[in-house]
Amino acid sequence: MSRAHHILIVEDEPVTRATLSGYFAAEGYRISEAGDGEALRRAFARGDVDLVLLDINLPGEDGLSLLRDLRRTSEVGVIMVTGKSDAVDRIVALELGADDYVTKPFDTRELLARSKNLLRRTQAARAVTPDAPVKRFDGWALDLDRRSLTDPQGSDVRLTRGEFDLLAALASNAGRVLTRDSLLDHVSHRDWAPNDRTVDVLVGRLRRKIERDAKVPTLIVTVHGVGYLFTGR
Ligand code: CA
Repeated sequence: MSRAHHILIVEDEPVTRATLSGYFAAEGYRISEAGDGEALRRAFARGDVDLVLLDINLPGEDGLSLLRDLRRTSEVGVIMVTGKSDAVDRIVALELGADDYVTKPFDTRELLARSKNLLRRTQAARAVTPDAPVKRFDGWALDLDRRSLTDPQGSDVRLTRGEFDLLAALASNAGRVLTRDSLLDHVSHRDWAPNDRTVDVLVGRLRRKIERDAKVPTLIVTVHGVGYLFTGR
């Protein structure tokens, strides 16, 4: 069995932090704790963090700002944890590249299940599986088994779960118009409370990653009033 996964818990409220820390440690994870942005950076700089549980409401820099900063250098798994049930925060967190989101008060077992799921996915993205079904377009390769995307230069480009699921749906239906509703079915999981905007946000993020010019997309084309079409070229 591989080494224990390392989870960084970023939470300013000591009781909540200790509760989460104790719960995940009892499940066999290695835990680091941070109460603010500075402590997060210190812990992260020591390396080998596999997953960050990031509270949005923190003293000083808030979790969304820290997420933006983290994403400049890292594609580590991030689950946002927050007291706000504000849908705007969910959309912003998604735009900034969060993988998942839970709202307090949350069930620790549910947070554990989501964490396991995300760790499994990020690990699967690293593992090499030969003979996987691979979708190729414009020099890119999307590997559906490894859940990885390789750019024309051969470098891995990490996608969030939502981005991957959306691109997989599009690439598997190249040449067909997919409605927002059907795309939503491919990316939905409970806590995002996804809506039409979710699909548009994810398409925007994907375009910035894979289009030669995101302002003049040629791979993911908007079909006004309906949805999106993946041209595959
Ligand atoms: Ca807090």
